[in-house]
Amino acid sequence: MTETDPIPLSALQHWAYCPRQCGLIHLEQAFEDNIHTARGQAVHHLVDEPGYEMKAGVKVERALPLWSDRLGLIGKADLVEFHPDGTVFPVEFKHGRKRQKVHDDIQLAGQAMCLEEMLGRPVPKGAIYHASSRRRREVAITQELHQLVETTAAAIRSMLAAGRLPPPANDERCRECSLKDICQPEAIASARLQHELRIDLYDIED
Ligand code: SF4
Repeated sequence: MTETDPIPLSALQHWAYCPRQCGLIHLEQAFEDNIHTARGQAVHHLVDEPGYEMKAGVKVERALPLWSDRLGLIGKADLVEFHPDGTVFPVEFKHGRKRQKVHDDIQLAGQAMCLEEMLGRPVPKGAIYHASSRRRREVAITQELHQLVETTAAAIRSMLAAGRLPPPANDERCRECSLKDICQPEAIASARLQHELRIDLYDIED
């Protein structure tokens, strides 16, 4: 993937979770399954066949392709509800229990912004469906989320242009990350620290 290719909507979520995870996946095409990615894939199997159904007058589209020329984003929505009153409502499926995660909300906001551009109407709300607890969490697509989508997409694009992996987070996020073995956050962080200490030492000697 290069800086001129459209950015996958999933990259917004990866970057918001950990910029290095985003770089490993979208710059270096690294991927490794763990229990969390396996659960995520199982959940997405529920909605990865394109098609639609009618539920109480609401048209529910599955696996709907999405894009934004303005933001250079591409991807798909797990579900989009089209209500008779004109309301358009995207729903993103995630494994795990109902809890607020800003990286999920950014991905949903990216979908809403694509739908707004494609359909020419506002998409002020959407939801995350948490498969383990089978509950929806409604998310208001606020101006702050719009702004976060724009700055995150710009940050990803500049990482791709520079072709450099961001430094490791090396914190509690790494425990659930499927890329831990490839990333080696402790080893890289320790090497960076030693390098910085050496630079400090040279500064003192000068
Ligand atoms: S192991 Fe940690 S630093 Fe490395 S990609 Fe995963 S979350 Fe980021």
